[in-house]
Amino acid sequence: MSHNFQITIDGPASAGKSTIAKILATNLKYVYVDTGAMYRTMTLAAKQAGLAYEDEQGVVDLLAKTVIRFEPGVPTQRVFLNDSEVTEAIRSTEVTNNVSLIASYKAVRADLVRRQRDIANSQNVIMDGRDIGTTVLPNAQVKIFLVASVLERAERRYKENKAKGMTVDLETLKSDIETRDYKDSHRAISPLIQAKDAILVDTTGQSIQAVVSEITKIIEKKQKP
Ligand code: C5P
Repeated sequence: MSHNFQITIDGPASAGKSTIAKILATNLKYVYVDTGAMYRTMTLAAKQAGLAYEDEQGVVDLLAKTVIRFEPGVPTQRVFLNDSEVTEAIRSTEVTNNVSLIASYKAVRADLVRRQRDIANSQNVIMDGRDIGTTVLPNAQVKIFLVASVLERAERRYKENKAKGMTVDLETLKSDIETRDYKDSHRAISPLIQAKDAILVDTTGQSIQAVVSEITKIIEKKQKP
């Protein structure tokens, strides 16, 4: 078991995991690891290489040659695919709608989980994703399972999109979120599921600050000797 402090935040799409994790990481001076960004980057890499998303072996071979790197950035962490910055590109609708297929491949998960554990081995981390508390860091000291109603998650996405000048109607966003949750919860390997020792935090109707303070209390309790 690692001697570093590990905090995991899992949950369905758009539950606020990365927003909350980033704030907590800044407050605690921990390294934030956005594992969804790794699966997204691999999805983009497949597209750029001209591979069909269904070409499992092709994607697996490409991943072995692919460097995925994070750099601190303001307001958000920067993500690099080999030497190119892909921070914005991995948030496209095309990547979002195909990432769950790429993330369902056994060898893709094995490779990325190994990379995620390597990062968590040498430093204090707060890592968010779908299987962090169940599979990647099963011995983490604090595990949070973050949820919110589908409607509220779609509304948050809608506002984010609007701020970026994109208009996707609410019903489409809702159904995209439901489809992705279904795929992530029903895949064979490491499906999205609450770890037995994870604490459920429902963010529906709660402000970001309220959620941060609720989780901070949970962490402080665990950090007390
Ligand atoms: O967190 P985010 O929505 O960016 O994740 C994108 C996708 O990556 C998820 O819908 C899921 O298919 C996949 N993922 C995963 N395991 C993780 C993190 C993300 O399968 N630990």
